Formats: sequence, C-alpha cells, structure tokens
Amino acid sequence: MTDTTASSTRRETLGFQAEVRQLLDLMIHSLYSNREIFLRELISNASDACDKLRFEGLHNPALFEDDPDLVIRVDYDAAQRTLTIADNGIGMSRDEVIANLGTIAKSGTREFFARLSGDQQKDAHLIGQFGVGFYSSFIVADRVTVVTRRAGEKPDQGVRWESEGAGEFDIEMTAKPGRGTEITLHLREGQDDLLSGSKLRSIVRRYSDHIVQPIRMRKEEWKDGKPERQSGEETVNQASALWARPRSEIGDEQYKEFYKHVGHDFEDPLAWTHARVEGRSEYTQLLYIPSRAPFDLWDRNARHGVKLYVRRVFIMDDAEQLLPAYLRFVRGIVDSADLPLNVSREILQESRDIEAIRGGCTKKVLDLLAHLAGEDQAKYAKFWGEFGRVLKEGIGEDPANRERIAGLLRFASTHADTADESVSLGDYVGRMKSGQQGIYYVTAETFNAARNSPHLEVFRSKGIEVLLLSDRVDEWVVGHLTEFEGKPLVSVAKGGLDLGALEDAAEKDEDRHEADEFKPFVDRLKASLGERVKDVRVTRRLTESPACLVADEHDMSANLARMLRTAGQPGPAWKPILEVNPRHPVVARMRDQERSFDDWASVLFDQALLAEGGQLDDPATFVKRINQLMLEMNAGAPGASAG
Ligand code: ADP
Repeated sequence: MTDTTASSTRRETLGFQAEVRQLLDLMIHSLYSNREIFLRELISNASDACDKLRFEGLHNPALFEDDPDLVIRVDYDAAQRTLTIADNGIGMSRDEVIANLGTIAKSGTREFFARLSGDQQKDAHLIGQFGVGFYSSFIVADRVTVVTRRAGEKPDQGVRWESEGAGEFDIEMTAKPGRGTEITLHLREGQDDLLSGSKLRSIVRRYSDHIVQPIRMRKEEWKDGKPERQSGEETVNQASALWARPRSEIGDEQYKEFYKHVGHDFEDPLAWTHARVEGRSEYTQLLYIPSRAPFDLWDRNARHGVKLYVRRVFIMDDAEQLLPAYLRFVRGIVDSADLPLNVSREILQESRDIEAIRGGCTKKVLDLLAHLAGEDQAKYAKFWGEFGRVLKEGIGEDPANRERIAGLLRFASTHADTADESVSLGDYVGRMKSGQQGIYYVTAETFNAARNSPHLEVFRSKGIEVLLLSDRVDEWVVGHLTEFEGKPLVSVAKGGLDLGALEDAAEKDEDRHEADEFKPFVDRLKASLGERVKDVRVTRRLTESPACLVADEHDMSANLARMLRTAGQPGPAWKPILEVNPRHPVVARMRDQERSFDDWASVLFDQALLAEGGQLDDPATFVKRINQLMLEMNAGAPGASAG
C-alpha cells in the first residue's frame, strides 16, 4: 500500500496499466523497421507542449517566466550513449506524468485492444492506426528518463520519471530550473548510428521540418573527416508554419509529414486540400482525408481533429465547430485572421466568422471528395470503405449540401450484383431506361436479403437496375433523400407498383383484367388473414414468387420496422399489404381451393414474410401447417400410393 501524499516526494515505483505493457511490447517488436519515427513523435509532442504554453500564456503571461522564446532542442552524448529531446513548453505535473506516461487515456483504446490478433504483422498495422506517440521511444531505447516541470510551478517542483519499458516506472520529485520537458533516451545496443549530428539532422529535416518552433542542435564542423562540436546552436528546420507558405513551395512529402503531426497518424493521408481564403472572412485551411478510419470514429465524444489557430497562434485542438459532424474524419488546421486570440469554445459556437469558415471548409472537403471520385476511383473506393457510412449522415444533417453529398454516395446494385458499393446515383441516372421515372432501391438487413428479395423480380425481368441497400443507416438516408437530379427515389417494396412507361398498353390491359378476375379470390384471402394485413391485391411485381409483402406508400418500410423492433423501440404496429402473383401455379390452384383455405392463406403470408428476411411470430404453427399441406397434397395427388 502506498500513501500517495506522503510518498510523493520520495522515489516510488508504479506499475504500467496492463494495456501500456501490451502496447510497448507490440511497438518494440513491430515497428522496429521504422525506428526513426520515435524522433518525429517526441518532437511532435514537444511542439504540442509549446503550442499549449503559448495558448495558456495568452491568459496568463507569467507562465512564460523569463523565457519567452519557445524552442525544441535535440542533442546527443556519444560517451553516455544518450539522445535528449527537450522543450520549454507547458511541461507536466506529477499527476499528469502518471496519467500521460503510465496509462493510455485516448478514446478508441478498448476497440484497439479488442482488435489485436496476436499476429505481429497484422497488429503492426493496427498500432500505426492507433498512434504511437511517446512510447515509441522504447523502439530505440532500453531506458527512458523524463524530467519535466509544469510552467508556473516552482523550480523544485520538477518530476523525474524513468522506465525500462517493461512493467513499471519510477517517479520522484526533483529540481528543474527551466520549465518544460527533457526526455533522455539510453540507446539499446546497435543503435549507435543515432549518435551522430548529421544522422539526427537528416531525420529531423525529413520528418519534422514543418514544426513551427525552431528545432535547435549544437553546431558541428567537419575536420579531418570527423565531426567536431562547436560552441553555439543552429536551427535545423524551417521553423515556420507550413500552411502559411505558398503551395508551390511545399512538397508532397512535407504535406504528408505535417499530416502525421496534426493527425497523430502513422500512415500517409489519402488526400488533402490547402487554400487561403480571402473575402468576408480571411483564413487558411489545410485539411486532410486520412487513409484509414480511427478507432474512435463511432465515438461521438471523440476528438474531431481540426486544430484552430488564430494568426499562427495555436488556440485549440478538436475545434468541432469548424466542420459538421459527418466530416469528423477530416484532420488538419484552420488559421483565422479575424478571430480574437482569446476566443473560447463558447464564443466559437456563436461566431459568424466561424459560420463562414465552417461553410467554406465543408465545401472544400466535398470538392476534394468529388475530385477524388472523378480522378481516382480506386482511392475513392478506399475512402468510401473507410468513411462512407459517416458521410451518409450528411444527407440528413446538411440539407444545404444534400445534392452534393448525394452525388458522393456509393451503393451496391443489381447492375454489378456484387456486395461492393461502387454505383453512384449519377451512374444510375445515366443508365436509366427511356421512360423510367424513378431511381429504384430496396432496403434489407443484408446484401443477400436485398439481392434475393422477391420485390426485384419484375425489375430483373425488364432489365431495370435497382440499388441494393443493406446498411442500417440507409433507411435513414432514403428517409431524407427523396430525389436526385430531379428523379424521385422509389422503394420497390412500398406502395403500388407503377412502372409507368416501362409497361406497354397490353400489359396494363392485362393488369386490369387480372385484377377483376381475381377480385373474389383476393377478398377471400383478405377475410381469411384478417388483422394481419392492411390489404391484399394482385401484383405485377412478381415473376417467380407467389406472393410478397409491401408497405403502404406512406408507412415505414418492413426493414425499418424490423430495425426498430430489434432495437427495442415500440414502433407503431406495422401492417403490410399482401400482394399475390396471379400467374403463379400455387395462386392459380388456391383460387379453386376450398379445403384448408385458411392454412394455405397463412402459409402464403408467412412465406412472403420469410422471403424478405422477416421473422415469423409463430414458426411452430407455420411448420405444422406445411407438414399438414404436404400430407394432403400426397393424399390428394392422383395415383399416389399409400406405401
Ligand atoms: P498523444 O501525443 O497521441 O496524446 P503520447 O503517448 O505521445 O500520446 O503522449 C501522451 C500525453 O503525454 C500527451 O497527450 C501529452 O499530454 C503528454 N506529453 C507527452 N510529451 C510531452 C511533452 N514533451 N510535454 C508535455 N506533455 C507531454
């Protein structure tokens, strides 16, 4: 048992959270071939710490003490075999050190650990997605020492943390005259090539050139083929805001490295857009689409990724007002020239400038996606696979951009007949038959249920394409998206089927004739099924099945009703319309049937429910009826022998 208050000045050994141990192990083994990234991660953290100080210093200038110039230092000691990365940023208190360097506090952690497979190669990929951060120092070091002091604390309130990256770490209070954090890496065997000014400079320039703060290193001069330390320091990066430079001066690699810093991502981004906007509101935006969904994509409380700067001063992470929720996967920065430096989240919510920025950023991202969809379908397919379901939310959330978002949606369809979502509404409209009025779709719980739905039969026979929607949010999408390019979206499982000009005069004539001819039969069926149906009618919808269920024009779809029921929501009692196929032999036979008519009617209804993925209220009775009918058929068949 440890008494934390009394022992806080003494040296204490604490255990890592179990997940940290697992992460460390995975990191060391799976990221070894990428070992140089540890420096990028530590410099990225140092830069964030400087940004935070600069922001807090706006309200509390005393935090700068007498050291106002923020700087990151990288140095090495060949004799001690150590590297140090130091910053004079915000620093950490003892509690912060324990929380930040002993546990993993980010959202998505549970999902991440749940997905680990134990297969190092696969997991290496996941770890990149999860973000590596501080713990990556153990890739090259077998002991890491952190000495830190939070800005504003007294010089004796420093904290020293040390660990060998196994199960535990030591922590104690120590003196630290300057604020900020100094991290010392005691290199593993075989890492001595890092003890070189030119090697470190090249890593810094490669991965951290975009860092806003100067990264300083001791000067070196080459003498007799060997580097010699000089007094004095030099800045080894450009030390200016990348986004403020003209696009023509920024290479793709620099854009990518900057993304890894702002996005806390390990992989390259899929695409980005960089623009300076002038007009009513003046700002610069540099926005990225990641290659992969983060673990916390579905966590509504997760961070939203876009950082807000005001005239190059960092203001806040995750400024969720900068983009609508359906674009929460976007990472990057917005730098406003108009907002006051003391802007708070509350002010942002009401700011007209923010409204303009949000509108502009949304448009830029949608433009970028449209461009990607047009230029690089493989890339767009990758985007769609990762973020398509989030983008769909925009159909309901952003009415002003609905048509643009609709153009970005991708669906499975009877045209391709694969589960791949690759058909756009534009493709569909381009392939519409002459005389076709609407964009037809079916919703179901799975792709196969959609593809095999009896409602598609007449469309198949006439070669009319139907979109196959099997994502849960699709019901919601079609609830909000009623038309595209002036063409209505029409469910094939709802309302009366009106194929309009797609049916010729002879077919329409036949329809009317059949409706009359089958009227008495339909009435009998309706009486027999009673409360279970809203109506019964003959249909042209079917070519192979005897019957199907449809929802009334303004009722919710069967699929949605089922979804609500499984979610435990007491939706209104859902009553379908039973449609029967007058050309089907079973129906023809039933028309003349007297015996067991009610059983036949029930079986017809139940099989229609099953065929579209529904569940029977009373499966046992269904089975009993089937068996009964099979026996009767056998007995009734001419020439049937009893044994
Ligand atoms: P991430 O940076 O993705 O949050 P890390 O594991 O790299 O994850 O760091 C965890 C936390 O430790 C950071 O969020 C930050 O609060 C703190 N931290 C890391 N390095 C520093 C530093 N140089 N100065 C101040 N705080 C730091």
